[in-house]
Amino acid sequence: MTRKDKLLRLNPQPRSNFLLVQCPECSSKQIIFSHASIEVKCFVCGKTLAKPTGGKAKILGKILKKYYE
Ligand SMILES: [Zn+2]
Repeated sequence: MTRKDKLLRLNPQPRSNFLLVQCPECSSKQIIFSHASIEVKCFVCGKTLAKPTGGKAKILGKILKKYYE
């Protein structure tokens, strides 16, 4: 009789990451924290690129790349 303790804890989802976001207005690129707790604005034209939601920030620009921590 074999006792199996299978505790396979797969965590494919990283806790947080950084996103390379392109501004829809002026096309400048900016790195934004995925869980930004404050509104992130484009440093060139001032357009809002990310809005805090309490969890993952809402990204309003185009996500070009993701950097996982
Ligand atoms: Zn911009």
